[in-house]
Amino acid sequence: MGRLRLLIRLCTAILLLAIFVARPAAAADDAADGALPSFAPVCHASTGADRTLQDMLTQPVWTCSAKGWQSGVPAAWLRFDSGSWQGEELPRQFFSRVARFETITFHAVDRDGTTRSLRLTEADGMPFAAGPVFGMALPRITPDTAMLLVRIEAPHSVPLLTEARITHDSRRAQWPQISLVLLAFVMGMLVLPLLFDISFFLVLRDRFVVLHAGIVGAMMTYVLFAGGLVSTIASVPIAVMAVMAPLSYAFGGGLSALFLAHFLEHGAQSRLMRRLTLATGYFTIAVPGFFALQLDMTQPFDDWAYFVTYIPFIVVITAALIEALVHGSRSARFIAVAWAPIIIASVERLLRGLGWHVAPQSFDQMLYVAVGIEVIVISLAIADRFLALRHERDAALTEARMLEQISTRDSLTGLMNRRAIEARFDELVAQGFDTFALVDLDRFKAINDLHGHQVGDAALVACADAIRAGTDRDSIAVRLGGEEFVVLLRGERTLERAEALRQAITMRVSKQVPGLDLPVTASMGVVMLSEARRHKMAFAEFYARADALMYEAKASGRNRLAYERLTVFTKAPPERKRERAA
Ligand code: GH3
Ligand code: MG
Ligand code: MG
Repeated sequence: MGRLRLLIRLCTAILLLAIFVARPAAAADDAADGALPSFAPVCHASTGADRTLQDMLTQPVWTCSAKGWQSGVPAAWLRFDSGSWQGEELPRQFFSRVARFETITFHAVDRDGTTRSLRLTEADGMPFAAGPVFGMALPRITPDTAMLLVRIEAPHSVPLLTEARITHDSRRAQWPQISLVLLAFVMGMLVLPLLFDISFFLVLRDRFVVLHAGIVGAMMTYVLFAGGLVSTIASVPIAVMAVMAPLSYAFGGGLSALFLAHFLEHGAQSRLMRRLTLATGYFTIAVPGFFALQLDMTQPFDDWAYFVTYIPFIVVITAALIEALVHGSRSARFIAVAWAPIIIASVERLLRGLGWHVAPQSFDQMLYVAVGIEVIVISLAIADRFLALRHERDAALTEARMLEQISTRDSLTGLMNRRAIEARFDELVAQGFDTFALVDLDRFKAINDLHGHQVGDAALVACADAIRAGTDRDSIAVRLGGEEFVVLLRGERTLERAEALRQAITMRVSKQVPGLDLPVTASMGVVMLSEARRHKMAFAEFYARADALMYEAKASGRNRLAYERLTVFTKAPPERKRERAA
């Protein structure tokens, strides 16, 4: 089946692309061999802006457990103790997850009270290719150093604190290595749907395809920045990395809501839900998008506000999907499958971002895999819609053709009907059909009366067959209704050809409908128009004249032909001849 082939091709292409992209990334990962240990803070604290190192040494306010992390504070403190690095190489570098902040001040405090301090700003941090992380050099740590205190001013996110580590060489640290291979794989998975979208758009011209391309673009940006993959190709400032990831996520979410509203079948969503979904889409781009910027003025709450303002998105999307599923929407089933992993992983990431639960950074990988799944499944959903639309279009075309057949063909004999000939009559006259031969079976009522309507029908079919057999590209047969037919003729000897047809009817009927008492004969009224191309005569006028001739043929004994030749440019009245044919 076509759909299966499409799926197989899609998966193969993704695999090849991923292998291609992943190779250099895997090489980068090898550098992590011979890894060094890294050390976590033993205690942390949140304080006002005016609290000094001296205050922290003399009146400690430390929390020495994994609880109570806060980011919306003027200053966050981390305490690393020398006990952690006993017997290991002395730490020289600090690193943590990328997020915005104002300054970081390091205080190396020796046992004798000597303190070496170093104050760095956000711009001094160097992101490096091991996840969304940045590193900073520490003031000198000696064997006499008792502890390292770190003061982070105006931190914008909890993971910046929970994932902070110190080590001898951050590039070789035992960081819970986020696999760049996986990220590269997801990026590879995302490239293909983008190509699909372009080709689908060329055919469908539907807005949801453009929106899906937007979602894929946002997700690529997200994976590139949130996963730190971007650091393998460029050196990006912390501020840009910290903003791009949540911003692209907000865009991806908002576009997803818009996509949902446009992609669901119209019968599958109520108007209210559709409007709500659209409004949620714009809201998600604007509001979480705004908090993603992590401006100075929003520092006390942006971390929290960023996550909380996704709640309308989660609620409305879920409600819209449930409504569509209840309405039996096929698209909604695809979307539910596509979004379930991403929603689960996002909620986990959200709780971790808020500091409500602490998990290793490697949990991020769930979200990247979910992003890949989402995009693939939605691409399949679009392909499915594409096939459905094509199927619908084909069915409509077939039906239109059938309707045309029905409306232009006589159902009993299969000849053209009166409607069809009237619609084309002027055109046919212009094409040179200048002879109008009206055929009426003689005493046909008697056949019905004697043998029944079924035999009558069979005789009509035989008559039609006789006429059809005698027609070619220079003659056209029509059943006007009842036992009345018209043959239009052009070219040479039209009168003789009409007469031959008339005689063929009797033979054909006797052959095809045996058991009739009397031969079935036909009478004919034939109008011939010379100079037909120059003079146009309407169907009704031909018919009226032919009918009058027919009446004459019937009146003078039936089974014969009466004709007249109309010469348009002569002043004298048309000459009228009568001919006995049998
Ligand atoms: P004549 O034309 O020679 O004057 O006599 P006639 O008996 O043919 O007269 P008329 O044209 O008035 O009657 C036509 C008859 O054709 C009437 C009707 O019973 C029959 N007829 C019309 N359409 C059909 C049809 O589709 N099937 C059958 N079986 N009979 C039909
Ligand atoms: Mg008749
Ligand atoms: Mg009749």
